[in-house]
Amino acid sequence: MMRRFVFPSQQQIYDHSPHWLQRILVNAEAVRREWFRRHGDYRQLVASHDPSWYYRSRDEQETWQLTQLNRLLTAVRRRVPFYRDILPDQPLTSLADLSNIPMLHKEQIRQNPLALIAEDLDRRTLWPRKTSGSTGTPLTFYLDREATRNHQAPADAMLATLGCQFGLPRARFSGAYVAPYTRSQPPFWIWIDLYHQLQCSAYHLAPEFYPHYIRALRESRVIYGTGYPTAWHLLATYLLESGDRPPTLRAIITDSEGISIEQQMVVERAFGCPVVQTYGTGEVGQIAWQCEHRRYHILSRAAIVEVVDDNGRPVAPGETGQIIVTSFASSGTPFIRYQTGDLATLAADDCPCGRHNPSWVAIEGRIDDRIKTPDGRWIGRLSHVTKPGIGIKESQIAQVARDRIVIRVVPAADFVPASMTAVIEVARRYLGPTMQIEWELVERLPRTRAGKLRHVVREIEV
Ligand SMILES: [Zn+2]
Repeated sequence: MMRRFVFPSQQQIYDHSPHWLQRILVNAEAVRREWFRRHGDYRQLVASHDPSWYYRSRDEQETWQLTQLNRLLTAVRRRVPFYRDILPDQPLTSLADLSNIPMLHKEQIRQNPLALIAEDLDRRTLWPRKTSGSTGTPLTFYLDREATRNHQAPADAMLATLGCQFGLPRARFSGAYVAPYTRSQPPFWIWIDLYHQLQCSAYHLAPEFYPHYIRALRESRVIYGTGYPTAWHLLATYLLESGDRPPTLRAIITDSEGISIEQQMVVERAFGCPVVQTYGTGEVGQIAWQCEHRRYHILSRAAIVEVVDDNGRPVAPGETGQIIVTSFASSGTPFIRYQTGDLATLAADDCPCGRHNPSWVAIEGRIDDRIKTPDGRWIGRLSHVTKPGIGIKESQIAQVARDRIVIRVVPAADFVPASMTAVIEVARRYLGPTMQIEWELVERLPRTRAGKLRHVVREIEV
């Protein structure tokens, strides 16, 4: 029988390359990404996202948005067959009219991602992107160069206001592949010359390696940090416990997931710099940044964001609803009234910081990271439930049936099973008497494809 030659995957080539070649490979990938991200008169584009604009009146911002929206809808109607019969042929007269346009569901993209793309685009110039999808079903979507560039510019403009201009040395923690998961010796990071970025693996953050990571951060002389806040929080806890010397950072700007305000303050104390959390998705880019009052302000020059209830109606100030995004980034790969699947709580009043773009007081995470009780309540924040537990290394609260919760516990050496009685009691207080609550020991908890641990997970459709 003839042996067929199988091409090794990119990852296999990378794993078997010497360090100098790995560095060339990651830089080649960075060049490819930069071709999408920062091109044309990029400096001018960043300048047009000047963050001082957010201090202008709400009226002025909305007038600008309406013009921008009509321009987008006209172009999309002309370019994207899917939208030809869906979008109105007359300009909208107010932003409220946007609610007459149907929302875009993830399932529509999953079924036919190419149907939502302008017919004049050369497919070879598109960037196929994948999200892990909360229920484990990946979603593939496409972005053109215009979209990618318009996602990057507002973020670069915000970074600059913190003294963290793109190009200054930085460290990033994310799920990007750096080293095989089985590697037990540093380095768990690689320097990407093109970005001046120490790319650190979030997968190798085990306690015995914390000192190595901190030393690498110090020695690479990075000026700011980005990426997963949970990774920065782990290192912050180590710094405070050990007294090890932190790197000198101007700020840490996090993305991809959220941490509580208490955890955020721990990171700030440990690293001695401000921490700014952001919200965004791969599909629509970064659309909200925390201000100094820790509210998430919408980048209103990048997108129109609605927060709606289960019936699609806008929620009142102070209430929680689903985040729906209309991105101004591109008419070639448009996202119009896109259901992100994430929940946010609107602010009830103007933010004391003086910006007039809309703000949220909290991002509640994904709908699938919430439990729905038999009496119809959505419960998301349950991090306090496991607090009375003694010797819990990690835990996950899973809804496995309409009326059944399992608390999965990875025990530490000093785990006290009896303490779980108190945990169950707290859980019952929040979830009500109609929910059965059990707990079980597990050896480890699954991570998402992006390497994140989900503390609350709903494993049934509701
Ligand atoms: Zn504010």
